[in-house]
Amino acid sequence: MSDTKSGTKSGTKSVHHWIGGKTVEGVSGNHGPVTDPATGAVTTHVDFASADEVDAAVAAAREAYASWGTSSLAKRTEILFRFRALLDANRDAIAELITAEHGKVHADALGEVARGLEIVDLACGINVQLKGELSTQVASRVDVSSIRQPVGVVVGITPFNFPAMVPMWMFPIAIACGNTFVLKPSEKDPSASIKIAELLSEAGLPDGVFNVVHGDKVAVDRLLEHPDVAAVSFVGSTPIARHIHTTAAANGKRVQALGGAKNHMLVLPDADLDAAADAAVSAAYGSAGERCMAISAVVAVGPVGDELVAKIKDRAEKIKIGPGSDPASEMGPLITAVHRDKVASYVEGAAADGCEVVLDGTGYTVEGHENGHWIGLSLLDHVPTSAKAYQDEIFGPVLCVLRVDTYDEGVRLINDSRYGNGTAIFTRDGGAARRFQLEVEAGMVGVNVPIPVPVGYHSFGGWKDSLFGDHHIYGNDGTHFYTRGKVVTTRWPDPSDSPAGVDLGFPRNH
Ligand code: NAD
Repeated sequence: MSDTKSGTKSGTKSVHHWIGGKTVEGVSGNHGPVTDPATGAVTTHVDFASADEVDAAVAAAREAYASWGTSSLAKRTEILFRFRALLDANRDAIAELITAEHGKVHADALGEVARGLEIVDLACGINVQLKGELSTQVASRVDVSSIRQPVGVVVGITPFNFPAMVPMWMFPIAIACGNTFVLKPSEKDPSASIKIAELLSEAGLPDGVFNVVHGDKVAVDRLLEHPDVAAVSFVGSTPIARHIHTTAAANGKRVQALGGAKNHMLVLPDADLDAAADAAVSAAYGSAGERCMAISAVVAVGPVGDELVAKIKDRAEKIKIGPGSDPASEMGPLITAVHRDKVASYVEGAAADGCEVVLDGTGYTVEGHENGHWIGLSLLDHVPTSAKAYQDEIFGPVLCVLRVDTYDEGVRLINDSRYGNGTAIFTRDGGAARRFQLEVEAGMVGVNVPIPVPVGYHSFGGWKDSLFGDHHIYGNDGTHFYTRGKVVTTRWPDPSDSPAGVDLGFPRNH
């Protein structure tokens, strides 16, 4: 939260809360600046909610739940189908908002909207997922059914790096299941969430089913302790994920908290090195490395290291850096100047930590945009596991290459990482790839696929410090997280039965 402050605002656009189906101006007196990362200029101020304003959003969601929670599946999916069409028609508009506040290039922002839309697709078909189970005649004249019902008011707390997609990992499934939703988006790029709220309203979503409160720790902590919040979904950094998990659980809520990552790509000696180098560059430097599924560590096995590093360097040097709104740009700026300086500090300290600095992106700037949050691409080779650049999640365009002699050594190195989000293997050996899938400790595995983000109908989530809680997000896990099970045991006596009489023994099925 170090890049935000409260105080007076002047001459900029304002982003307000969305509560009960309409824009609600903040009254706390606190707000945060939103910058255009390509220019460094503050373009927008976003309201920061007080505890009372959070309470108003939860109250709106609770009131809406009374009817939304019992509305028909047909009504819910009809609205979601209309929302899907509106989202499709507004892809460009949402992508432009993302680029203006996040900085990523337009094509990448469009990709984010497309991946979010996949989850809306899934939610449109929620009726299939919510089909219950029925067992007839489990005992004489007894039938048993299992059904799933919504949990109530649910909350989503989301990071800056996917301001449209990550909220869409959550709310389409939550509201399709009959819950009502309060979103607390990142304060660094809040506008996409408001556009989405407007589209949901236009699609016919009843007021109060989807609400947005902006803010910082004050808003988040109130949501975590509010007695009317039943469940919390969080995506963000590991320290905050841990805090969310502990606090929400202590307040009796179900919680899924997805954290940070250090994603490894193991390259075996038999791999297609050109394909591996293409994949490493795309996955390490795409979105300026600000992806939780970015590859930040390449583990080169055996003799391939030198050739692989040369190929990565060659490709990285050709990447065009510039404003996300310029179609020629392949990589945009970082989210804030503070974050840019932090990323640079890892490269600056790398040599002293024993790394070989092959490409140094620090000090990079873009002509005509000197105040933007720029940094070039950095490539560090022969990185020891003790180096700070390897130990921490950098979340910037810095790729570490580590050298190992054998497959086993490589897997051990990956499994020793405290993170376990995504990982990938590049090889032509199906047997080795199969072993890797079973042996590696990570939630998502790619075989010759560097960013294995699961499709909507498979769930997304990591292991170890990359996820706190036991449900992954979207897919079947999403439906489970946003519903609770109920089992109904029914006996309808046959009209010809005589009364069973009193029996104090524990009921047995026969
Ligand atoms: P962040 O943890 O700083 O912020 C995430 C959310 O938490 C924001 O809404 C923010 O306002 C709130 N927050 C921040 N500090 C808080 C505090 N002290 N108390 C309560 N709430 C607080 O993360 P970020 O910088 O916005 O996003 C980048 C991080 O998110 C990276 O670590 C990245 O790996 C992670 N991420 C993970 C996934 C995943 O699926 N595992 C996906 C995207 C991003």
